Amino acid sequence: MSPTRITHLIGGAPWEGTSDRTSPVYNPATGEQTGELDLASAQLVGEVVTTAHRAWSDSWRDLSLTKRGQILFRFRELLNQHKEEIAALITAEHGKVLDDALGEVMRGLEVAEFACGIPQLIKGGFSENASTHVDVYSLRQPLGVVAVISPFNFPAMVPLWFVPVALACGNAVIIKPSEKDPSATIAMARLWTEAGLPDGVLNVVNGDKEAVDALLTHPDVKAVSFVGSTPIARYVYETATATGKRVQALGGAKNHMLVLPDADLDVTADAAVNAGFGSAGERCMAISALVAVEPIADELIAKITDRMGKLRTGDGTRGCDMGPLVTKAHREKVAGYIEAGERAGAKLVVDGRGGDFDADGEGFFLAPTLFDNVTTDMSIYQEEIFGPVLAVLRVKSYEEGLELINANPYGNGTAIFTNDGGAARRFQNEVEVGMVGVNVPIPVPVAYYSFGGWKNSLFGDTHAYGTDGVHFFTRGKVVTSRWLDPSHGGINLGFPQNA
Ligand code: NAD
Repeated sequence: MSPTRITHLIGGAPWEGTSDRTSPVYNPATGEQTGELDLASAQLVGEVVTTAHRAWSDSWRDLSLTKRGQILFRFRELLNQHKEEIAALITAEHGKVLDDALGEVMRGLEVAEFACGIPQLIKGGFSENASTHVDVYSLRQPLGVVAVISPFNFPAMVPLWFVPVALACGNAVIIKPSEKDPSATIAMARLWTEAGLPDGVLNVVNGDKEAVDALLTHPDVKAVSFVGSTPIARYVYETATATGKRVQALGGAKNHMLVLPDADLDVTADAAVNAGFGSAGERCMAISALVAVEPIADELIAKITDRMGKLRTGDGTRGCDMGPLVTKAHREKVAGYIEAGERAGAKLVVDGRGGDFDADGEGFFLAPTLFDNVTTDMSIYQEEIFGPVLAVLRVKSYEEGLELINANPYGNGTAIFTNDGGAARRFQNEVEVGMVGVNVPIPVPVAYYSFGGWKNSLFGDTHAYGTDGVHFFTRGKVVTSRWLDPSHGGINLGFPQNA
């Protein structure tokens, strides 16, 4: 079957131009190229910014909260109705198993529900008679056109972290999805149109560095929400802040699970397998380093190995536990880390290279892999692998484990497994990581809190969604107001004082 053309969605309609550059989209479970994606030029990005800006000023920025809210509610309903179709698009281009794809849509839907509360979220304060006959009140106003640049690993959830909140706050949005799996984002943008969003308020532009650079430097793009690997996040942050934009750039991760000797080892082994190998380890909150406080490592590794033997890796549409990696190149990169781990002297307990996969064709498969005796100088510990590779590090005490986690340059997520409430409380206080789980391996905050890591996992001051999201997508303004009456006259050049 010849690949289907996938194009931009601009001003509410598919783009009708011809692209100079395109990029292939694959079904990772079969290795087949299924799509040919148009890549936007810098010039096209400029035209889209103009379209978005016009739509913002003509039809969106001053639309009443009631009418905006109605569109948000309708989008929420449509997304719920079409969740299975969106999940199928994710599985077809990303590879993750259908259940997992549906789970990501549902977590994204929570943010759409949160955004439906915008009238309450955006309310300002009012102080009557701050000074005699003078009132002071605060407003939160939209920024204008904002850009969202998303990664391949959550093609629905990450766009949903930002788009509903940005729109609810009264902004126009240009989203550039990952060029590896753009179709879920495009399908959701169509649902926004169906929900009644005016044309041009949300646009999907596909592209690579050229399109991203054009967004980062365009004077009419006022804010950038980026999610991706740490080097690109740092680049995006530095480039866009240099042109005066507001930026939140979420980067990569190395998430640790600290297991204390009193933990329930069966529950812990289940959690390690789920969080290490779910979505083939391609989650920014995946557990990739298990830090075992002795003497439990041997027993825990035996339980994990036993569970790994029962996992089925294959095509995500066939009820398997784990799907393929996103591209052939990424599969080779992860396999290269396994070689590097062996060379560095780590003990390869389960080798995911080779093995039987439940799929047809030449999919990009690698089965779950487990290393023991990993040390902090090894590349399999130091670098984000972003694949189904779990590394066990052995430590002698809680303090040694904590020090190891805090020395890591990433700070996205972490979890402690223990039955000791005091130890868990100490950990949540002392660990230098933005999102912490207590006997919860993937502590992605619910929509009314905010998502964000520390250190090299986030560049910027605000986290995604929740009240941080509302603050990111609005500017505060304070009005001091006096309705004149004759008593207010008179000349006084002194600094105004309250009276
Ligand atoms: P990536 O950095 O390769 O790509 C992210 C986005 O940046 C894509 O839209 C891509 O087209 C664009 N891009 C790629 N190269 C670029 C360049 N040179 N200049 C400008 N833009 C460029 O990331 P990915 O491989 O798509 O996603 C996986 C990464 O994202 C992992 O590191 C993962 O940890 C991270 N991630 C982080 C979070 C978080 O919340 N912290 C969430 C999801 C994913």
